[in-house]
Amino acid sequence: MNYQQYYPVDVVNGPGTRATLFVSGCEHRCRGCYNAVTWKADSGLPFDAAMEDRVIADLNDTRIRRRGLSLSGGDPLFAPNLAAVKRLLTRVRAECPGKDVWCWTGYTLDQLTPAQREVVALIDVLIDGKFEQEQADANLVWRGSRNQVIYDRRAHYGVELVLSTADSPR
Ligand code: SF4
Repeated sequence: MNYQQYYPVDVVNGPGTRATLFVSGCEHRCRGCYNAVTWKADSGLPFDAAMEDRVIADLNDTRIRRRGLSLSGGDPLFAPNLAAVKRLLTRVRAECPGKDVWCWTGYTLDQLTPAQREVVALIDVLIDGKFEQEQADANLVWRGSRNQVIYDRRAHYGVELVLSTADSPR
């Protein structure tokens, strides 16, 4: 997997102070996409073991307390990204207790493949669906267009987040 940007301290993409990773690779090609530079999977830089270690270290940095990790892009659930994202989130769960994970994807919940659901099982909050310019609304929080849904595993917002059996991180 490649990534486009990594913000070790971010207060825009999700609640609180966070670390945010923008991965490369997206097949949705939404009209009006604000981040089309991320579409090509081979754009940006390799997300290698050193970057993985850096994210984990930042989440555990007690000098700047991060509430969690945000994953955006590109699309973290783009099939070629799944192995790397799953590896990263498995480490976050094991090595960063108390941190939450937010993830933005262009797929809708009902479109997810079994492999994508395995990754989503490691996520606390999923914002799903393509950016639809006709439904864009600048007043929305954490979403760009009204078709997108925020699924919060912890608070059971919206439709119940049933992703797979016995795989809840909590
Ligand atoms: S899913 Fe996101 S990154 Fe992909 S085309 Fe749509 S708005 Fe752009």
